[in-house]
Amino acid sequence: MTIQEPTSANLAGQTQGNGEPHNAEVNVAITGAAGQIGYSLLWRLATGEVFGERRVNLRLIEVGEGVKAAQGVAMELLDSAFPLLGQITVTEDLHEGFRDAHAVFLVGAKPRQKGEERSDLLAANGGIFGPQGKAIGEVASPDVRVLVVGNPANTNAAIVAAHAEGIAPRQITAMTRLDHNRALGQVAEKLGGGVAELDRMIVWGNHSASQFPDVTELTLKGKPVADQLDQAWLTEEFIPRVAKRGAEIIEVRGRSSAASAASSAVDHMRDWFNGIEGEWVSVALPSDGSYGVPEGIVCSFPCRLVDGQWEIVQGLSINEFQRERIEKTVAELQEEFQTVKDQGLV
Ligand code: NDP
Repeated sequence: MTIQEPTSANLAGQTQGNGEPHNAEVNVAITGAAGQIGYSLLWRLATGEVFGERRVNLRLIEVGEGVKAAQGVAMELLDSAFPLLGQITVTEDLHEGFRDAHAVFLVGAKPRQKGEERSDLLAANGGIFGPQGKAIGEVASPDVRVLVVGNPANTNAAIVAAHAEGIAPRQITAMTRLDHNRALGQVAEKLGGGVAELDRMIVWGNHSASQFPDVTELTLKGKPVADQLDQAWLTEEFIPRVAKRGAEIIEVRGRSSAASAASSAVDHMRDWFNGIEGEWVSVALPSDGSYGVPEGIVCSFPCRLVDGQWEIVQGLSINEFQRERIEKTVAELQEEFQTVKDQGLV
């Protein structure tokens, strides 16, 4: 279903923040579009804050009962009268949804059922993310940028990367930006500064309780701050709090942290399209062997943008405490990867 025809806005000839010329319009696909995250995310995508002054064509991909709900969401988007919003398409068909897509948010995933084993969840999601990766390889724009949000996000992204023929591994990422933002929020509160003054936060590993939010390289207004944060606070409060923040939100709010997840997805994709001057952010992407992380595992690293692509920050010296934490979260990722490998999913 397409409910809005393109407007006649002429946006040709503009350039991206990184100086590259870009098209006048951008095709953006979102799976699980009728879910809670989609309900926040779509409004942010339609405003222009991610893709600048380009017209945004939205492809809302859903399954089953989600299709009707997505039609309702599309109606509301139309009613919001966003000047930059182009076509809105609601579809169950992956090829229609991903065709010529420049940006893809893979949000829909199978939630874990009570009593279900992790391997069952991984297998069920393999059945979702494998075909999605294949379709992206077949019909998306060759320069497509993919962000996996649906959990288990890292391993789902590894499955996508294994199936998306012709798409470079670096074009497929999983979201640890929410963990990164959560970590910034905690430190800013502790030190009494603003998050904008903090740089070089790192989240290593898996978007799970094993993740390692790391302040070793963190700076406040350009000055290192690690020695202002005592070790007991870091190990007993900061690290577990960031790692388990999702559960804490559910307990306090009564519902999941969908708005902050959507906001972090916006941050991730906005930076990827527009560039960030010299800053580091945390991005989960297929490892190239950096820091001893086995190749192909989708692991969160400190990344900067170089010529529009994420690059892992190299050359950091890793102390024993860091090494231990990184190894623990990477071991979990390896285990997940092995499970989906045994199931023939990667
Ligand atoms: P949400 O929109 O709340 O969440 C979607 C996914 O994002 C889940 O895997 C969730 O993981 C993950 N997620 C990652 N970070 C966060 C965070 N901080 N807070 C919350 N979630 C986070 O799920 P809904 O159930 O509201 O909606 C899902 C939609 O996806 C439904 O409309 C459904 O129809 C659709 N769907 C589509 C599929 C497809 O396209 N093939 C397959 C399955 C579902 P977690 O579960 O760990 O919270």
